[in-house]
Amino acid sequence: MFKHIAPNSRITRRTLLKTLGLGGTAALLPDRARAAALPASGGETATLLDLSKCIGCGACVQTCREVNASRYPDPVKPLPTLLPPGTRNEDFSDKRGDDTRLTPYNWLFIQSARVDGKEVHIPRRCMHCQNPPCANLCPWGAASKRESGTVSIDAEVCLGGAKCRDVCPWQIPQRQSGVGLYLHILPTMAGNGVMFKCDRCQDRVATGQLPACVEACPQSVQSVGPRNELAAAARRMARERGGYIYGLEENGGTNTIYYSPVPFEKLEAAVAKGPGKPHLASVADSMADSNTLAWAVLLAPLAGAASALLKGTKRILASREAKGGSHE
Ligand code: SF4
Ligand code: SF4
Ligand code: SF4
Repeated sequence: MFKHIAPNSRITRRTLLKTLGLGGTAALLPDRARAAALPASGGETATLLDLSKCIGCGACVQTCREVNASRYPDPVKPLPTLLPPGTRNEDFSDKRGDDTRLTPYNWLFIQSARVDGKEVHIPRRCMHCQNPPCANLCPWGAASKRESGTVSIDAEVCLGGAKCRDVCPWQIPQRQSGVGLYLHILPTMAGNGVMFKCDRCQDRVATGQLPACVEACPQSVQSVGPRNELAAAARRMARERGGYIYGLEENGGTNTIYYSPVPFEKLEAAVAKGPGKPHLASVADSMADSNTLAWAVLLAPLAGAASALLKGTKRILASREAKGGSHE
């Protein structure tokens, strides 16, 4: 049975964890090689966004910014000069207030378009792919997917090489230079920093809360629940109300599913697109390509080892800094 979690409804921690699939050991990372080689399981949770309800008020964006503010990057200034000469840093630290696109300081924004006489607002963030190329192809093991269906990037380990953004069909992760482990390892290496994106509020969920944007919405636009039930609900809505769905098949299936009263092809043609402003076109399963799959399987053990090594390095640096040493 499809379970709609209404904003402000009373919900116990146990119920929420069960609904979001985070109970017991479910939050442990799946084996990366297995994740890369096998089709995604049906046990994941998803969010379904009913765009016919969204009024574009931006309360979800505002609350995302508030609850995640402490996790936003605080880069060293001046930013390190990069090699080769002429390479530019990616710096959004002077544009922290920009909520018109995805940035390291804004993990959710509202796209709007007028289609068939209807004003449609589309909250955009990570799609939380069922078989995410960002997690399967991150060479450092910084990006990963949980059994709950949540895909996150570990800012402690990420070196900012942006492989995740390169392979993401929507180019969702956003890089901030001048922060992260690379400052201690290769501070002048081009293309470094840390990548940021929505992690479906995994820390809040782990403490029994709803994702902040879900909770803050005055229109109950988002539902949270088992993906198979939400997918069935979306299909039912499309059948009964004559609407359209995005996310069931895109990139092999995502855990962010949109229902729209107007066709996504028309929304795709109407919305502004560009850096930090993802498209709405249909997307083939990028992990179905045999070369990509082979890379993912090859990278899996290396990425696991790299992640462990980087975490160890981070611990050593933190310990030295605690003892008063400076390594900037
Ligand atoms: S939308 Fe992009 S960043 Fe998000 S899980 Fe999919 S591939 Fe990764
Ligand atoms: S789930 Fe959390 S991190 Fe993701 S957009 Fe919503 S509030 Fe932001
Ligand atoms: S808070 Fe709800 S209604 Fe307002 S923009 Fe976000 S999803 Fe739409």
